[in-house]
Amino acid sequence: MSLLSIIVPIYNEQESIIELHSRLNHSLNNLTFEYEIIFIDDGSQDRSFDIINQLASKDSRIKYIHLSRNFGHQIAISAGIDHCKGDAAIIIDGDLQDPPELIPVLCNKFMEGYDVVYAKRNKRKGESIFKKLTAKAFYKVMKKATSIDIPEDVGDFRIISRKVIDCLKQMPEQNKFLRGQIAWMGFKQCAIYYDRDGRKYGKTGYSLSKMVDLAGDAITSFSNKPLKIVTRFGFIVSFISFCLIIYALYRHIITGKTIDGWTSIIVSSMFIGGVQILAIGVIGSYLGRINKNIVARPLYLIDSTNINKSKKSDSPK
Ligand code: UDP
Ligand code: MG
Repeated sequence: MSLLSIIVPIYNEQESIIELHSRLNHSLNNLTFEYEIIFIDDGSQDRSFDIINQLASKDSRIKYIHLSRNFGHQIAISAGIDHCKGDAAIIIDGDLQDPPELIPVLCNKFMEGYDVVYAKRNKRKGESIFKKLTAKAFYKVMKKATSIDIPEDVGDFRIISRKVIDCLKQMPEQNKFLRGQIAWMGFKQCAIYYDRDGRKYGKTGYSLSKMVDLAGDAITSFSNKPLKIVTRFGFIVSFISFCLIIYALYRHIITGKTIDGWTSIIVSSMFIGGVQILAIGVIGSYLGRINKNIVARPLYLIDSTNINKSKKSDSPK
């Protein structure tokens, strides 16, 4: 390996960037290969971009991609993946929750001949009980709902080979869930374990709605199970209502007693109405995905960058 790319998504991380940069430098300087650090500013509203810009002006190994607005964590990483030039890339969060000191360990394991080495969390420090519980539930559902095995307690902190980078670039889907996409790819993958630190500065950029969106993308990207479950449920409900209709007709025609009270009718019709809406919702979410992919809008827009994309202009003049 001659060049290693470090991909760092940044959204309002002004307090951590300097420390992150020096810790990155510290652990990267011990390695034998060259490196580039790509900061992707995902439309931060604080001073993050100024700080990155300053760092980049002092060190040519620091690249930046300044997105035109907040596109979200997964898309920010995708922008880094599209623009990195390394023979391998490390994806690391910008909030110091993923320790840069682990990078040499990831690299050593990688050199044994893996395509993906991901960092698996021993414990989740400094995260609310709510986050821990929702994360646990999410991984449980993912395991049940999808046919691919997405490793539990693993974030995006990992090293990936050029092969994996090129495969990711070929995946045109708009709803990115990189962890899942990489798990889906196969190749030689393995884990190393680490203790995840709590967030040192600022607060999480993952609002509840962003988390729900990510979970939704994860499940609909890799599984048709929700659709199947709803369809099955629909069959069962239709069967029960069919039996009820026969029973109602029987009472009305044969025994002559009409069903008394409208409660049961209201309840059952409400129930069926609810089930239908649920089914429409699930179908709608898949249609939404199809629509988004057909529109094929660019995934992100770059405001400015100091990365020269064409390979030619890279060669010394
Ligand atoms: N991030 C981003 N865009 C967003 C939200 C987050 O680029 O819309 C970055 C953020 O700066 C951090 C990483 O993605 O480097 C992980 O985000 P965060 O720490 O908020 O997520 P959590 O660790 O709480 O899951
Ligand atoms: Mg974090």
